[in-house]
Amino acid sequence: MGGIRSALSRPRSAPPRRAPITVLTGHVPAFRLAVVSALLRAVALVLGVLAVGLVLAQGAPRNDDGTFRNNYPHATTSFGDFLRWQSERSDVPEPAGGWRTPTATPDLAALRGPAKTPSVTWIGHATVLLRLGGLNILVDPIFSARASPVAFAGPKRIAPLPIDIADLPPIDVVLITHNHYDHLDEASIRRLAATPAGSPRFVVPLGVKAWFDDIGIGRVDEVDWWQDVRVGAAAITFVPVQHWSRRNLLDRDRTLWGGWSIAAGGLRVVHLGDTGYSNDLRDIGERLGPFDLALIPIGAYSPRWFMQPKHLDVDDAIQARADLRARRAIGIHWGTFPMADDPPDEPPKILARERERAGLAQDAFDVMMIGETRPIEETNETKRRPDANAAATSAR
Ligand SMILES: [Zn+2]
Repeated sequence: MGGIRSALSRPRSAPPRRAPITVLTGHVPAFRLAVVSALLRAVALVLGVLAVGLVLAQGAPRNDDGTFRNNYPHATTSFGDFLRWQSERSDVPEPAGGWRTPTATPDLAALRGPAKTPSVTWIGHATVLLRLGGLNILVDPIFSARASPVAFAGPKRIAPLPIDIADLPPIDVVLITHNHYDHLDEASIRRLAATPAGSPRFVVPLGVKAWFDDIGIGRVDEVDWWQDVRVGAAAITFVPVQHWSRRNLLDRDRTLWGGWSIAAGGLRVVHLGDTGYSNDLRDIGERLGPFDLALIPIGAYSPRWFMQPKHLDVDDAIQARADLRARRAIGIHWGTFPMADDPPDEPPKILARERERAGLAQDAFDVMMIGETRPIEETNETKRRPDANAAATSAR
């Protein structure tokens, strides 16, 4: 590029750079200029495509010390900010009789029988059972009383567990979004691995396999962002979200975090785990959408000054649904383990108000009862897609 420009400007008598192109054709035959210009354009196009391809194909970025970082710039919070939040926290007054997150009694026989139709069951918090493409897929299983490294302290379950591990259908695959205690629960993982039907396959973010190795669980694959695994007829892709990881005082961001896109049986579902609002959501929508169903966290957003980079609030969640190109969304990560200052019953109230303000139908973004099962239906947009499974590239 520089060579050509300097060649053209070398003669002292050459016209200024912004002169009309017809003047230059006096020095260079027109057809040669056209060829050079076409070549330059082709090279620029190829470079552009390669650059976009590299951005989309590459995994999570890392810092010099090997820790992971998010794709897009965002506000950060320090340990001092955490202490300030803890010191300023005021307990949300619990109503007489306790919190009452709506709960349904699951039809255990139907859940354990053959899956007649694809379905989603909300077990509470981010724990979801998906019956899709002939598979039973469990995401972020926590069946314990507390989301904590210890049994005597930490966020306590405020709604009854609707179904225990022994009542689940045989689980084919367990997906983990990140290593926070409310998403990766050791007691639940140990019990799932020890089920009489045999250990499910675990698919986890980069760096989390070592944790499974330490507790002697071997059927584990770990993946980077945009990598996918095939399980039966399902293409399961790990997607970037804006969050962080920590299991102890020394391992901040040493393991990856993300969400899961699952394409099976002509349907496509995304589970976001935990996330703040970022352009990653639009990237996921552009690359893997439209989705028949998006499971989007809508709780643990207060106070905003501290939570905003890492957790969506309800307005963010409504925008996330649009960015993901999801026809239907279900709000998760609320009403189960109070993790932040928002009252446990607040997210669905705000969702109902903001949904109406946004002109969305209830089934465009709804909440479920804990223990409830709903069918996952193909939406008109995804029906037009020839084959959801064929769209996913296999890294393995
Ligand atoms: Zn988290």
